[in-house]
Amino acid sequence: MTCGLPYVNGPMHIAHLRTYFPADIYVRYQRKLGRDVLFFCGSDTHGTPITVKAEEQGTTPERIAKQYHEHFRQIFPRLGIFFDNYGSTNDPVNHHRTRAIAMNLIENGYIYQKDVTLPHCPSCDRFLPDRYMEGTCPHCGTDARGDECDQGCGVYLEPGEILNPRCTICGTTAEYKETSHQFLKLTAFESFLKEFLERLGGTENARNYAKGWLKGGLKDWNITRNLDWGIPFPGSKDLTFYVWFDAPIGYIGSTEEWAERTGGDWEHYWKGPGRLIHFIGGDIVYHHCLFWPSMLKGAGYSVPDAVVASGMVKVEGHNFSKAGAMYSGSRTSTLRRVWTLTRSVITLLATRVTQETLTLAGKPTRPSSTRNSWAFWGTSYTGASSSRTGTMVRYPRVSSSPR
Ligand SMILES: [Zn+2]
Ligand SMILES: [Zn+2]
Repeated sequence: MTCGLPYVNGPMHIAHLRTYFPADIYVRYQRKLGRDVLFFCGSDTHGTPITVKAEEQGTTPERIAKQYHEHFRQIFPRLGIFFDNYGSTNDPVNHHRTRAIAMNLIENGYIYQKDVTLPHCPSCDRFLPDRYMEGTCPHCGTDARGDECDQGCGVYLEPGEILNPRCTICGTTAEYKETSHQFLKLTAFESFLKEFLERLGGTENARNYAKGWLKGGLKDWNITRNLDWGIPFPGSKDLTFYVWFDAPIGYIGSTEEWAERTGGDWEHYWKGPGRLIHFIGGDIVYHHCLFWPSMLKGAGYSVPDAVVASGMVKVEGHNFSKAGAMYSGSRTSTLRRVWTLTRSVITLLATRVTQETLTLAGKPTRPSSTRNSWAFWGTSYTGASSSRTGTMVRYPRVSSSPR
């Protein structure tokens, strides 16, 4: 079981809780049923949002990543969420696993090199990956970031796709320059993905979004960037992996760290009979339902059994992660108060999520057609573990032990 990795360019904000809380309930519930569940997470440390912030603040990406990694590592237990391991995508184990998966994909013929023409800033004298440029969305005409039409149609933008690109740092209009990049042959996975999405458990929004994109046709995926901060692409001097290549591999890296510490078998979960369940925010379905299963399949790993995607939290029409800047200074005490106040409300929402995903364990404890969620929870809990009724999941007082 994993939870989407928090991106460490800023502190936790309230919208983060929409993913971690249902996931935590699900894990506790499975454990009460006596199932062998491991819960992994970690910090997502690479990519341009961190490097742009570092340049603006005159510091290094490593320092920013380290600072917020510590913040997240400490805040989860204080909120009563206990992972079996909390890693970082910049840990040596993740560098190693990312290179190993890329080598598997190269050997199997799924990664190839291609010459591309990409935006380049003549004044900064460098290529402009992702957040280093802004421009116009080619799909809806809204102002967009280099990697995503974040306030328009929401589409993910491949390098070079954005129109009228200009440099985020100095504002200069970009010119185009030829360079070589590495591509994952996503188009080779089309029939696999069709079949995969049919049997994928979890929430409907994840499956339906992904099916929609699949219908629209896939394009091969540029998995490298001209950026120093990141995991170097094997054999290249100036390319690092795109953050969305090494970020989900962080789930495996975190499992490997747990295995090193406990003598456990990480391959049971990633190459063997173990089941993989991802809880994520609704904004990263594309990566978890298309890219990630293709990478795993192509490299010879197990693929996810379920993806549970929470909806976006919107404030005045803006995604909370944006508007959240207003709130993101919240100290733990504020978060904890909000956490406590909304717990009962979210439990109700999480019930729906968990009810859907329960069937993926192979042996649903109750018929999945059970209409009354509360009855479902009550009876399952009582039948599974004790005669105590009413409380599905007991939360320890903050800072106390998880089990
Ligand atoms: Zn520039
Ligand atoms: Zn758009």
